[in-house]
Amino acid sequence: MTAELMIGTDLAAEMVAKAAERAAAVQEKYGVQPCLATVLVGDDPASATYVRMKQNRSKKAGIASRSVVLPAETTTEELVAEIRKLSEDPEVHGILLQHPVPAQIDERAAFEAIDPGKDVDGVTMLSFAAMAFGDPGFRSATPGGIMRLLAEYDVPLEGAHAVVIGRSPILGKPAGMLLLASNATVTYAHSRTRDLPELVRTADVVIAAVGKANFVRGDWLKPGAVVVDAGYNEGNVGDVHFEEAAEVARLITPVPGGVGPMTIALLLEQTVDAAEAQLG
Ligand code: NAP
Repeated sequence: MTAELMIGTDLAAEMVAKAAERAAAVQEKYGVQPCLATVLVGDDPASATYVRMKQNRSKKAGIASRSVVLPAETTTEELVAEIRKLSEDPEVHGILLQHPVPAQIDERAAFEAIDPGKDVDGVTMLSFAAMAFGDPGFRSATPGGIMRLLAEYDVPLEGAHAVVIGRSPILGKPAGMLLLASNATVTYAHSRTRDLPELVRTADVVIAAVGKANFVRGDWLKPGAVVVDAGYNEGNVGDVHFEEAAEVARLITPVPGGVGPMTIALLLEQTVDAAEAQLG
């Protein structure tokens, strides 16, 4: 292996420790603990695990959790009503709707029921617009975490060609917007992109957000490329074939221990930001 690892674990731990200090200061000043509400619909075991991890880390950071669990057959209207209740509840400062929701639900409608001031996972259209225009606002947690990791490893983005593989509203699309705001030249690739390996070979920075194990191969990469693997598939496997890619890349994120911890750290940081803004 020739690539250096871009490890998220330590940076994420530092971010969570700082969020914990700030959460304690909020409690001290206002007598209120910052509170993150999590909404889980259905019984997907992976989603349940992610929500549990977020609640556990919240607890460690002195952030209270409110847990809403709804059955798989929940309708859009029912979910929207639950989220509106949380949006209006002054004791809740941040709201996370675990993605994906069951197929019968209009996920966009559910996301838009989140009060933009409580959108600590950065999923509303308003948050997306803020990311697109380079304005302050909540960042989508995974893309925001990726940007912090790139900054930590001093990855030059200005003028760099970044290829983002995947265009989901929670990951690929906002990741591209944040890279653009950092003056990268951004290309989005998706399921209908032609000659993907050829395109990826032109990238200085590759963001893999596909949801397919070992999808990006070593011979798709330009030597010296920076590779961020946002994927998380069964068996702790990313979207990049790690062993092959690590022989060609300059920097690469491991899975696990790369992007994953950064996502949670940013979520907690933004929950404290939201509490400060609402109480202050
Ligand atoms: P998603 O909503 O399923 O989106 C996948 C994207 O990949 C889509 O834009 C799709 O294109 C594209 N795609 C599918 N097949 C492709 C192909 N053959 N060639 C090029 N593009 C292709 O997934 P997601 O929610 O963005 O998640 C992506 C991955 O990130 C998953 O492994 C997920 O587990 C992981 N993830 C990790 C974190 C974390 O905290 N680390 C957070 C969220 C997600 P179309 O738009 O054309 O369909």
